Amino acid sequence: MSESAAALAPEISEVSRRKIAFVGSECYPFVKTGGLGDVMYALPRALIREDCEVRVILPLYGCIPEKFKKDLTWKGSFMMDLTLEGRTFFVGIMETEIDGVIYDLIDNREFFDWGNPYTSLWEDIPKYCYFSKASLAALNFLGWIPDIIHCHDWQASLVPLYLKTRFWGTPVSNARAVLTIHNLRFQGICSIDHLKYWSGLPDYLFNYPELKINDRECNMFKGGLALADWITTVSATYAEEIQTPAFGEGLDSHLRFHQPKLSGIVNGIDTDIWNSGTDRLLKATYTADDFLDRKVLNKRALQEEMGLDQDDRKMVIGLVSRLTDQKGLDLIDAIFPSLMDGNTQVVVLGTGDSRYENAFRYYEGKYPGCVAARITYNEGIAHRIYAGADAFLVPSLFEPCGLTQLIAMRYGTVPIVRETGGLKDTVAPWDPERNEGNGFTFTQYLPGKLLEAVNAAKTVYFTDRWHWDEMVRRDMEKDVSWASSALQYIELYDRLSGRA
Ligand code: ADP
Repeated sequence: MSESAAALAPEISEVSRRKIAFVGSECYPFVKTGGLGDVMYALPRALIREDCEVRVILPLYGCIPEKFKKDLTWKGSFMMDLTLEGRTFFVGIMETEIDGVIYDLIDNREFFDWGNPYTSLWEDIPKYCYFSKASLAALNFLGWIPDIIHCHDWQASLVPLYLKTRFWGTPVSNARAVLTIHNLRFQGICSIDHLKYWSGLPDYLFNYPELKINDRECNMFKGGLALADWITTVSATYAEEIQTPAFGEGLDSHLRFHQPKLSGIVNGIDTDIWNSGTDRLLKATYTADDFLDRKVLNKRALQEEMGLDQDDRKMVIGLVSRLTDQKGLDLIDAIFPSLMDGNTQVVVLGTGDSRYENAFRYYEGKYPGCVAARITYNEGIAHRIYAGADAFLVPSLFEPCGLTQLIAMRYGTVPIVRETGGLKDTVAPWDPERNEGNGFTFTQYLPGKLLEAVNAAKTVYFTDRWHWDEMVRRDMEKDVSWASSALQYIELYDRLSGRA
């Protein structure tokens, strides 16, 4: 390279760096209630490794721990109009940077000071109207105009609508909007009057092709999907499933209509956080090379921590989950007595519907030393279950992607899953003939089918340990990182922004 070309090079690469803004309602480590929080953390980190600039925009909730709030820098504030009457609201921007990713937290105490972070839909609708509009206003205010605004789930789904109406002609309207469906079950449905009032969006968007779903109601997610430049969801199988009445949550025909701009890109996990070789939350770190000697140290520690009988020979089955119908817990409930054969222990961590919380508390009392239920949300215990269990249950009714099976595999804990959504795309079924596969799977949503899969796992575990250990090794070595999925997102971003 000539001297003059060398002098120009940094400038050129600076100019050509892709700029991506993430807009979503939760992001680890600030606030996380499920997989969305993981993705909002891990995907931006994977993108900056591919030379993208990424800003993550999220609400500054009251529930964000003080240790994060104290590191935020004030970037400015302004007043923004919202609602049909044009009421004005304060928008503050507080910023921090972690490992090259910039986080802009939108400050407004009226909307964000309570809730964990969600409250009731009635209150969440105004909250996320405000958030979607404030995110775009913040980008204009900061003068940072992205190539792509990547919006996540219904809470950020008004962004494409604002972008193409109220913000049209402003600098931020140069960006293309991608909307990712992490879970179609939650859609932001309310009365037309309520959303019309709070969003201040033009009347013509409250028609059937966009927001309207019946004479009285509208649906924020539906409107966002209509106006987004591209829709992604978090696995190829879920992208197909949501176009059917069984999985479409009432939006299957809408999604079939928008199918030409819909694709599935499977999630990964952050392999720095989820690394059994360095995980400080574990009793003993281990890798694919030494798991035979060292994983059992975590099993013993887990049995001790959970008050289970200390016995290496027992098979420990783990479950870390929101305790809701989606997660197939009625199947587990139905077969629970059959799981308890004297050689099996079950460890549960989760919160959710009282029906399931109480069921697991009951089983803990009924099978002392064999069942432990922690009805709470706790990152440390989650890590120790992933490491200490032998097998891991994910029998979901539907599962857009699912992260827990990916984490379990990374920790050498063999997943037992139903073949739906991302579970189907990430867990290859055990094939004894070829000595292949990552776990035990079943298809029909029936208790007996789950029991068959668990029994198949038990048979290999108790009678064919060599093959079991081979599967553990395969799982630990499987690529569950974001690397290849991040490249697929970049390809999509480039296509939409005209780079490709
Ligand atoms: P979903 O987003 O539907 O809840 P995912 O499998 O995509 O399910 O992601 C769940 C994430 O939340 C995983 O990181 C899992 O470890 C974590 N998680 C779920 N329940 C708990 C809990 N009670 N304590 C700690 N972490 C949990």
